Amino acid sequence: MMSSTSMTAAEQPVLVVGGGPVGLVMALLLAQHGRRSIVFERRPPRESSAPKAHVLNPRSLEICRALGVDVTAMRRMAPHADHANCARFMTTLTGTEFGRLPLVDPAQQPALAPTPEPLLNLAQPLFESFLREQVQRAALVELRLGHRFVGCTERSDGVVADIEGPVGTYRIDGAWLVGADGANSAVREHLGIAMEGVPAVRPRITIHFEADLSAQVGDRPAILYWVLDPSARGTFIAYDIRRTWVFTPRDVPECFDRADYPDARCVDMIRAALGDDSVEITIRHVVPWMMAAQVAQAYRAGRCFLAGDAAHRFPPTGGFGLNTGIQDAHNLAWKLAAVLDGRADVALLDSYESERQPVARLNTDRSLANAQKLTGLFALAEEVLADGAPDPAQQDALVAELEHHREHFLSEGLQLGFAYGPPTRGPADPMRYEPSLAPGARMPHAWLALGGQRISTLDLLDRQRFSLLLGTAPHALRESANLALVVVPGAAAFEQPWLASPLLAAGGALLVRPDGHVAACWADAAAVTPEAIGQALARFGFAADTAATPVLPAEFVP
Ligand SMILES: Cc1cc2nc3c(=O)[nH]c(=O)nc-3n(C[C@H](O)[C@H](O)[C@H](O)COP(=O)(O)OP(=O)(O)OC[C@H]3O[C@@H](n4cnc5c(N)ncnc54)[C@H](O)[C@@H]3O)c2cc1C
Repeated sequence: MMSSTSMTAAEQPVLVVGGGPVGLVMALLLAQHGRRSIVFERRPPRESSAPKAHVLNPRSLEICRALGVDVTAMRRMAPHADHANCARFMTTLTGTEFGRLPLVDPAQQPALAPTPEPLLNLAQPLFESFLREQVQRAALVELRLGHRFVGCTERSDGVVADIEGPVGTYRIDGAWLVGADGANSAVREHLGIAMEGVPAVRPRITIHFEADLSAQVGDRPAILYWVLDPSARGTFIAYDIRRTWVFTPRDVPECFDRADYPDARCVDMIRAALGDDSVEITIRHVVPWMMAAQVAQAYRAGRCFLAGDAAHRFPPTGGFGLNTGIQDAHNLAWKLAAVLDGRADVALLDSYESERQPVARLNTDRSLANAQKLTGLFALAEEVLADGAPDPAQQDALVAELEHHREHFLSEGLQLGFAYGPPTRGPADPMRYEPSLAPGARMPHAWLALGGQRISTLDLLDRQRFSLLLGTAPHALRESANLALVVVPGAAAFEQPWLASPLLAAGGALLVRPDGHVAACWADAAAVTPEAIGQALARFGFAADTAATPVLPAEFVP
């Protein structure tokens, strides 16, 4: 094996700091692009921690699907995936329910959903162990556990990282470095990149416990329970109703210590919020943390990038943190690979910040607004429930207030409807996704039959190259290192109307980036020329080379 110093810059691995979900997805995506990476994770290994994220949204799951990982197996890991995708608002978990809000639009027929991958409630440690298994099988990824990033130096053609390993500190060369090392990122600090926004929204404590609450839940399953009783306020997250729960009490002091929350106190708080003194509870972790709403001022300094929580810290109200981080990795991986392959100009990498930072700002604002609105709900509940059972008029006021929180849980527009710029745009309605073929938008999904299989239009896309989607086999166009030609069946093959079908039937074409976002759209057959396609590719810094041998996909190969 070549020593790292004898390799050319393009042969050097990408150094990924942080073996959390974003770092692991980053490494897997780079491997899919044929690029080697080394992941440095300071923990030996990252021991099972309190579960944090649980809602994997459709876009994250679409990215996993594109990565070729078995999303069906992930769904099997999620206990009670059939349980209601909703949040309930109650006095206590066993008390009176005031209402519930859906995480998926209940009016939407599953067959007509805008995604092949509906939302999944999967505890973060389970997701991470699944990703680690994929990484261990990936020949191009090396995971170094117990290796901590301490600093780096930039060279003209690479970066040298200082890593503290189990037997001492060493230096290692890489082509580029990605800091996916979480909210208190050492990479970000080393680069001197400041955060913008609100550093301290409110102190929080996560109490991770094990209990079988199926009897208490009964016929009221949910992902989240908001407990409004003034003496026991807080939120339950149901990772696994029969075993794994988190309780985050609403009322915690500005300053506190883990010692202020001995296990016995935590058990009492949980029992009060359950409204049931008899439940057996085992406390697993008690983690104090500060809720922040911040985005990094810059996503890049020279050959180093930030991704995930290293680049943005959201309140968890909205479930955007991990999901946004996975999209960061998805946006960056194909660009890094194309630059390393010498297929694209290095200027392509500038678009990572200009495309992803605005999305993080949108999601920060929504998460913060959700968190702030809850203050009003809890204040009203305190008034209404001060004397025990509320009268009907007060109860109606509380139920009416819940309507203002609908967009906290329903955010399909934000999950799927952002479009890359310039300028990057948010959806018209954060709750609803509007399919679009506009440049920058995610190419819309529809189910169709091809080669005897039921597939999504998203499955038609090439993962390494731009895909040119056409209605008929082209004469004048050729595949190349940057361009895949995809002939899409006519509307008769589709189970549901697809926005692009009329365009393709009329001889138009859709050029889609390797990350599934539309690069260009031509309504007119005469406009679909090698020159026009070359110009569209050149806008991303890619060579216009469309003259290689044609390889038309005869049928879908899974
Ligand atoms: C209660 C709660 C609920 C949440 N719910 C959701 C949800 O439903 N959906 C959602 O999308 N998000 C949710 N989140 C947010 C989500 O947990 C985070 O956004 C996610 O963990 C970020 O992943 P990451 O890989 O960027 O960072 P992390 O998960 O923090 O991983 C970073 C890794 O880097 C390692 N590291 C740190 N420093 C170094 C170093 N110097 N050298 C080497 N390694 C280092 C760390 O050990 C860690 O393993 C929730 C958060 C909380 C607290």
